[in-house]
Amino acid sequence: MAATNYVDGEWTEAESGETFEVTNPANAEEVVAEYAMGSTEDAERAIEAAAAASEEWAATPGPERGAILTQTARLLEDRKEELTETLTREEGKTPAEAEPEVQRAVDIFYYYAQKAGDHGGTVKAASGRGKNLYTKNEPLGVAGLITPWNYPIAIPAWKLAPALATGNTVVIKPARLAPGVAKGIIECLDEAGIPDGVVNLVIGSGSDVGGAITDHDAVDAVSFTGSSAVGHHVYDAATDDQKRVQCEMGGKNPTIVSDTADVEEAVDIVASGAFGVTGQACTATSRAIVYDDVYDEFVDGVVAAAEDIDVGPGLDGHDMGPQVSESELESTLEYVGVGQDEGATLETGGEEVDVDGADGYFVSPAVFSDVDENMRIAQDEIFGPVLSVIRVENYEEAVEVANGVDYGLAASIVTDDHTEANRFVEDIEAGVVKINEKTTGLELHVPFGGMKDSSSNTYREQGEAALEFFTTTKTVYDN
Ligand code: NAD
Repeated sequence: MAATNYVDGEWTEAESGETFEVTNPANAEEVVAEYAMGSTEDAERAIEAAAAASEEWAATPGPERGAILTQTARLLEDRKEELTETLTREEGKTPAEAEPEVQRAVDIFYYYAQKAGDHGGTVKAASGRGKNLYTKNEPLGVAGLITPWNYPIAIPAWKLAPALATGNTVVIKPARLAPGVAKGIIECLDEAGIPDGVVNLVIGSGSDVGGAITDHDAVDAVSFTGSSAVGHHVYDAATDDQKRVQCEMGGKNPTIVSDTADVEEAVDIVASGAFGVTGQACTATSRAIVYDDVYDEFVDGVVAAAEDIDVGPGLDGHDMGPQVSESELESTLEYVGVGQDEGATLETGGEEVDVDGADGYFVSPAVFSDVDENMRIAQDEIFGPVLSVIRVENYEEAVEVANGVDYGLAASIVTDDHTEANRFVEDIEAGVVKINEKTTGLELHVPFGGMKDSSSNTYREQGEAALEFFTTTKTVYDN
């Protein structure tokens, strides 16, 4: 039996008694942990507990809330090594990739601990002397947080910490493939003294537990990160119910390589953006859009970089870990086949990799050249280490190709021409725009989100933007 749900301050089993196992994607024979398989009923109990705790938590002074978040950050930091290992065993990232993610969760809790307070400010009234005009931000109530497997500690942290800092109570549903580190955060919140009911964790299926969160009347806000297909469903269900909704979804992120770029630098930027975390990042670089003059040199460089990557279990010191599951691996291999059928040239990779003694979901990083912008490999989010290299004549064509997808999350340009970089900032349809940097990698104190299908124009996350999402504003005219 597994008491891995946390409801109203108690670690509990699923009401049904059902459980499931998480196995190591680098070695499918290794069971990492057993979890309670939460159901709609478990989620409803959690939502009711959050609703009951809401008034008192909202009335708790900001510094008190902040002190709990600070203590949570300290406890997470103390457990960094163990959480890094759990993250690697459940999700497959290498320790070199997992450790900074755990540290990011720690930093996020410290950051929002400082922001836990009463937000708002005074404004000089344009009419009448002696009138006090001010704004006052209040929590929304109960926040439902639905998170994906690919950043299983950073994303829960960047939703939990601002929701709690601003005085909301929470029900979180992490993805079933890698829930261990989100559970670790809740253990730290519990140890730090978060009052019963303020934070609740229910692990279970998307349709049951996620569905209960989007449909329940007592939930006031839903913050979702995941695929566009599920995100659109969540958006419709939650807005139907008049909840505030935030949806962070997929990407098909481009890096433009200009003819003024240092090609070696461009290769490093694109290869680490495309193949880091096994390409399983919403901001992963999946298209390199390269000017004709430097195209051949770039392709040679990026193929060499891909072939230099040593694939295998991160805990054994390899550079690139597995895909998270058999179905993700199969999906990547299928896309490699689609690219070949569409007539692109597979320059390297895209094959399952056998590693001695590890029954894992390994694939070699793939580079396609001769990619037409309309091919599926240039349009669909693959979510694996597959890079499409597209040839263009000039800046105008590069931007048209970059914008010619449904997504608009992150985009970058490698150029030595500042005017071109500035034009790119203006012209690109993306929420995160980078110059001479890879598309992956975020700072925690600035807004994060996308355009078009990547966010459906919902609220931004991270930094001060998250405080705005989790609060509503009263404007007070006190005469
Ligand atoms: P997913 O959409 O399959 O699942 C995300 C979460 O939604 C999970 O917790 C899942 O159980 C839940 N869910 C599934 N069906 C649901 C339903 N009917 N109602 C409510 N919840 C439901 O995504 P995933 O496979 O876990 O993660 C990969 C995807 O996440 C990729 O598309 C990636 O681009 C995206 N992602 C986006 C960002 C971003 O910030 N834009 C960050 C990381 C990942």
